[in-house]
Amino acid sequence: MADCVNHPGVESVRYCPRCGQPFCGDCLVELEGTAYCGPCKDVRVQELQTTPASRRPTSVTVFGVLNIVFGAMGVLCSPFVLLVLLAPQFIPQPSGGNSEAYLVTHSPLMRAWDIGSTVIGIVASAVLLAAGIGLLSLKPWGRRLPIGYAIYCLCIVVIGSIITFVFLIPAMMTEASCSNDPGARGGAIGGAIGGVCGYGITLIYAALLLFYMTRPGVVQAFRPTDKP
Ligand SMILES: [Zn+2]
Ligand SMILES: [Zn+2]
Repeated sequence: MADCVNHPGVESVRYCPRCGQPFCGDCLVELEGTAYCGPCKDVRVQELQTTPASRRPTSVTVFGVLNIVFGAMGVLCSPFVLLVLLAPQFIPQPSGGNSEAYLVTHSPLMRAWDIGSTVIGIVASAVLLAAGIGLLSLKPWGRRLPIGYAIYCLCIVVIGSIITFVFLIPAMMTEASCSNDPGARGGAIGGAIGGVCGYGITLIYAALLLFYMTRPGVVQAFRPTDKP
């Protein structure tokens, strides 16, 4: 072995794994089970102490904020949706007839689905909100929660699409063709398109979540800090 960089004449016992220079036992400091030279140990300590924000990938920050925004919106809005679904006849309809149309076109089974999916939606929004907070603070569960949410979204989209296309759109079309009002027909088509767009956006968001949350850089960021 070569001489210690700091002590000429003293044989080194090990190379510093960071700078690659030979050092004697007196010069090496143990950190996390690895022997570093003095300056390198200081640098490693600094690296380990850097705040989670600095090692947080941009995608995690973006999804953290988005999840909090969407989660909060869902938690705040869903109870009103639920109210409308449970008692549509009590909600004043300025455009007229909307709540009636809802009751006519929606069988009890479809109303049950609407109400059930809204209740699940409230829970999912709360989960999404928590996932956003977990993402921003780089908690280990902060990555698993959005993945779970994305899988839930995919299931809801599949079930919801089936219900929309098999039951809802035919029912609305029948209702619209029965009435001579072109406005009702347009409303039915508009509602169908709106529903499809809603599912499309959910699908894209879930796919993006799944894609980014499984990226190696993101997985790495959620590992415990003791391994560099
Ligand atoms: Zn070193
Ligand atoms: Zn030395």
